[in-house]
Amino acid sequence: MAFLEPDRYFARLSRIDIDRDLIERGFRNVLLDVDNTILTRDTHEVPRDVGVWLARARDAGIAFCLVSNNWHEGVYRLANRLSLPIVAKAVKPLPPAFLAALGKIGAKRSETVVVGDQLVTDVMGAHFLGMQAYLLAPLVEQDLPHTLLLRNFERVVMAGRQPEGAGVPSAAQPVEASAAPADREGAEACGSAKTEGTS
Ligand SMILES: [Mg+2]
Repeated sequence: MAFLEPDRYFARLSRIDIDRDLIERGFRNVLLDVDNTILTRDTHEVPRDVGVWLARARDAGIAFCLVSNNWHEGVYRLANRLSLPIVAKAVKPLPPAFLAALGKIGAKRSETVVVGDQLVTDVMGAHFLGMQAYLLAPLVEQDLPHTLLLRNFERVVMAGRQPEGAGVPSAAQPVEASAAPADREGAEACGSAKTEGTS
């Protein structure tokens, strides 16, 4: 099932090392899932460490396009607040939305990695187009009913594989406590505030 297996597996977005895991591997672009990747399914928030990471990555020259199967208005508002381009109603894993996202940011597939929390949408969609995929553990356990069903399948595929960066620092630990002042500003600019309407 190599087609379904992610190229890397991380505990959350902020555990991806921007230099080592992106830039040094030739990735200048990230196609980024939304729900349970950067936005919690339960409280509809962008966690502070995720906002900080996005700000740092953009400062480092990484270009992003959100690619979401979400069709609610809230996902567009989130993209607007983060000042990121978005392709929503994406119908991942089908290729058209990924191709549209690549076109929006002028990205080559070979320099782009897809990052998301689902094997069947994010990872498979990336591999369909010959792109690499970084899987993240979902931000929270709550999700849509059909997604929760797919999680059972994902557990089979990922059996025994532990995410990189799990536990250090703990997801429960307030990241802002250790962030530099500039990072805190970045987090705010990147929309650590609550959003609404996505599901
Ligand atoms: Mg997702």
